[in-house]
Amino acid sequence: MYWMQRAQRAFDNPALDVAVQAANALKLPCVIFFAPVPFYPHANLRHYAFLQQGIPDIAEMAEERDIGFVLRRFPEHSLIKFCDEVKAALVIGDENPMRELREWREIAAKKLRVPLWTVDADVIVPSKLLGKEQYAARIIRPRLKAHFKELLVPCENPRAHVKWHAARGLQQLDWRGTEDITEGWEIDRSVKPVDSFHGGTREALRLLDEFVKHGLTRYPERHNQADENGTARLSPYLHFGHIGPHTVALAVEKSKVPREAKDDFLDQVITWRELAINMVHFNPLYDTLECGENWAHKTLGEHAKDPRPIQYTPKQLEAAETYDDLWNAAQLQMVHAGWMHNYMRMYWAKKILEWSKSPQVAYNTAVYLNDKYFLDGRDPNGYAGIAWAIVGKFDRPWFPRPIFGTIRYMARSGAEKKFDAEKYIAQMYALAGRERGKDKEAPMLF
Ligand SMILES: Cc1cc2nc3c(=O)[nH]c(=O)nc-3n(C[C@H](O)[C@H](O)[C@H](O)COP(=O)(O)OP(=O)(O)OC[C@H]3O[C@@H](n4cnc5c(N)ncnc54)[C@H](O)[C@@H]3O)c2cc1C
Repeated sequence: MYWMQRAQRAFDNPALDVAVQAANALKLPCVIFFAPVPFYPHANLRHYAFLQQGIPDIAEMAEERDIGFVLRRFPEHSLIKFCDEVKAALVIGDENPMRELREWREIAAKKLRVPLWTVDADVIVPSKLLGKEQYAARIIRPRLKAHFKELLVPCENPRAHVKWHAARGLQQLDWRGTEDITEGWEIDRSVKPVDSFHGGTREALRLLDEFVKHGLTRYPERHNQADENGTARLSPYLHFGHIGPHTVALAVEKSKVPREAKDDFLDQVITWRELAINMVHFNPLYDTLECGENWAHKTLGEHAKDPRPIQYTPKQLEAAETYDDLWNAAQLQMVHAGWMHNYMRMYWAKKILEWSKSPQVAYNTAVYLNDKYFLDGRDPNGYAGIAWAIVGKFDRPWFPRPIFGTIRYMARSGAEKKFDAEKYIAQMYALAGRERGKDKEAPMLF
């Protein structure tokens, strides 16, 4: 039995492959058990809607491989009960470095009467192989690359030799007829689903194909252009496991675009992504200010009492009510599209540090907003990105400035040099249905 949690796909899924191989060796059928619950940390209606959109592809792709798919939902989500009902011989789980999900696996391992094996299915190089926290991209990069020959290889996607047939009376939801998987649950419904992304493996594969054909060649220059949809926009799919990093990396590797573009993209989707996962795996303080390096704490401490002439409360920031219409545009994109371009994410978080009462308040605000609105929020990449922006994680000291100390600063003028900021602002204000020109004027601090 495959206990599906993070890797929500029945294609290119190393954990599912292990489950099928084990079932084949034991001459038993293989079944996926997927049981969403309302207590995923910080999940709201937006996240659950995307998760639900991915279910048909899981079910259909599993069927093509003669693997069973049983969907249940809270309060009928018990893994232990399901194992007893189907008389499972072995449970395979996927790994997620976030603390709550780790705890769930530990509890399950204690309660199960059969072995539980887990597979780190959403990385190229399993976190355990790296042994400890890696402090910079330049450090982790060669260590990851050393494993590519063995691990950056296509998944086998084996078929189950013994086809799964559900026993009569086995309780399961009809995924075709389940309109709202969250019905009756007490979850935050204030954050609405978005039209900008539709969940599912097939949609992720379509986006990947389109990006490799039309976007990859120009990725190095467009990587910083927030006014163009020039990046892969795969982060929500990678977060929910609708697509895996092997599929993405190998499609890029196989393409006929210049080596420089391939390397640039692979560095993001492997080095930076797996650096973030490594941080969450090995640093228990991953979503707090404390995860930063000593030099960052020292410099922020030295500047704690600096005047902060422009200050916004978390509520003002959430409502995109600042004087800076470029920042507001980013916040509006987050709220209304559930996504943001990487360059704007950096600028967005840096400005939260500049405008908050303290680095602590800034950190909490950034994590809160990131996890609430982004479809790809609640993800190691988010914690690492915020740590990079606010506590200099994976970065180095820069020239000292008020408030920031030696934490790297980003100015609006920098964004304006990289892309058409006016176009981006107009796009996001239109998306949010907000009139332009009503933002308050305030002096630039630096
Ligand atoms: C303050 C801040 C907050 C962020 N919050 C999140 C978040 O909540 N969830 C999230 O997935 N990413 C987050 N990122 C990282 C990055 O901005 C997004 O992964 C990227 O913008 C997603 O768009 P894309 O899929 O088009 O990326 P592409 O540029 O097409 O890259 C492909 C993939 O590579 C990975 N990647 C790209 N850039 C980074 C990066 N800087 N760090 C780690 N992995 C990267 C992602 O998995 C991405 O999907 C954050 C970055 C910052 C600075």
